[in-house]
Amino acid sequence: MYNDYQQHLVRVLSEIREAGLYKNERVIVSPQGAEITLDSGQKVLNFCANNYLGLSANARLVEAAKKALDTHGYGMSSVRFICGTGDLHKELERKLAGFFGTEDTILYAACFDANGGVFEPLLTEEDAIISDSLNHASIIDGVRLCKAQRYRYANSDMNELEEKLKEAQAQRFRLIVTDGVFSMDGNVAPLDKIHELAARYNAMIMVDESHSAGVVGDTGRGVTELYNLKGKIEIITGTLGKAFGGAIGGFTTGKKEIIEMLRQRSRPYLFSNSIPPLVAAAGIRMIEMMTETNELQDKLHFNTGYFMEKMVKAGFDIKPTRSAICAVMLYDAKLSQEMAALLLEEGIYVTGFYYPVVPKGQARIRVQLSAAHEKEHLDKAIASFTKIGKQLNVIN
Ligand SMILES: *Cc1c(COP(=O)(O)O)cnc(C)c1O
Repeated sequence: MYNDYQQHLVRVLSEIREAGLYKNERVIVSPQGAEITLDSGQKVLNFCANNYLGLSANARLVEAAKKALDTHGYGMSSVRFICGTGDLHKELERKLAGFFGTEDTILYAACFDANGGVFEPLLTEEDAIISDSLNHASIIDGVRLCKAQRYRYANSDMNELEEKLKEAQAQRFRLIVTDGVFSMDGNVAPLDKIHELAARYNAMIMVDESHSAGVVGDTGRGVTELYNLKGKIEIITGTLGKAFGGAIGGFTTGKKEIIEMLRQRSRPYLFSNSIPPLVAAAGIRMIEMMTETNELQDKLHFNTGYFMEKMVKAGFDIKPTRSAICAVMLYDAKLSQEMAALLLEEGIYVTGFYYPVVPKGQARIRVQLSAAHEKEHLDKAIASFTKIGKQLNVIN
C-alpha cells in the first residue's frame, strides 16, 4: 500500500516545487532578535519576525522563565480541568484581562486553538457568523467546526457587512468576526464602523488581536484602544507568540459568561495540555513590563514611521498601514523572490509573498518593524532596499 501512496506524495511534492510554492526553512542558530545568525554563519538583520516589541530574547522574560522552572518545574502533565491549573495560569489570565480591560481570560496552547475552540461551544445552527474574507486560517477552521450559518464579507467592506447583517436577521444571535490587523497589508479593521453596524443590527463582535496586541493603539492595547472601544467588544482572541514574547500560547478574553462557557465546552481547552508554567511566568512579567512603561510601543511606533517615510521618499510603493507591517509592493512574483534573495546577500532578511498567499498580481516584500531595531539597522535596511531596488529597476 505505502508504495502507491509514496509515489503519489512524491508527485504532489514535485508539483509544489515546480509551481515555485515549496517552502524552505532557513535555520537560525542565535536567539531571535534584530541581528540573528544563520547556520551558514552569516549574520543578518531580521525584518520578518513577529517580534514587534523585541521581547523574544528579553533578559527579564528569560529570568522570569528560569525562576519558574525552579519553583514550578517543567510541565503540568494535565489539561486544565483535571490537575493542570497552576497559580501562574490564573495570574496570567487575570493580568491579560486587566491589560485589555475585559472581564476574564482563558488560556490556550496557541491562538490557533483559541480560534479553533471559540465558535462551536457558543453558537448553534440557529445563529450566524459573519466573517471578513481575509480572516486568519485558524478563524476559518474554527468557523468550519461550528454549525452556525456562515456569511462572508469582502475585506473591511462595510457595505457588504451591512448587507450580510440584514440577511442574518433571520438567525437568533449574530457574531461579526474580524482580524484586528490583517497580516499581508498591515491594514487595521474599521472597528468603529463595525461597532456601529453591530449596534444597529443587533450583533456581537469578535476581534483577533494577534498582530495588533502590543502594537496598535498608544499603549499597545490593540484595535479596541485605537477606536476607543475598550470593554465594549464581546470576544478578543490573541497570541503570546508575536509581540507578547514570541514563545507559545494563546488566549480568549472578554465577557465573563463567554469565558465561563468556553472553560466548560471548548474542545482545545478541555482536551489539550496546559501551557508550561515558565511560559505563564514570562507572560506575567511581560504584562507587568508593559504596564510600567510605554517605551517599547513608543520605539516601535517611531521605527515604523521612520522606515515608512524613508521608503516612500526613496520611491517605493508602500501600502498605507497603522500597524508594524510594511508591504513593499512589487506586483511581480518572480521579482519579489529575486529581490528578497539579493537583500539577504546584503544582510537584510525579509520575505517575498505572492499568490496564493496574496492575490494574483499583488506580490510584495513584507517588512515587519520591531522595537528591537536601532536607527542604524533601519538605515542599513533602507540603503539596501534602495541599492537593490535600483539594480532591479523597481525605483529610479
Ligand atoms: C499568528 C496568528 C494566529 C495564530 O497564533 P498562534 O498563537 O501562533 O497559534 C491566529 N490569528 C492571527 C490573526 C494570527 O496572526
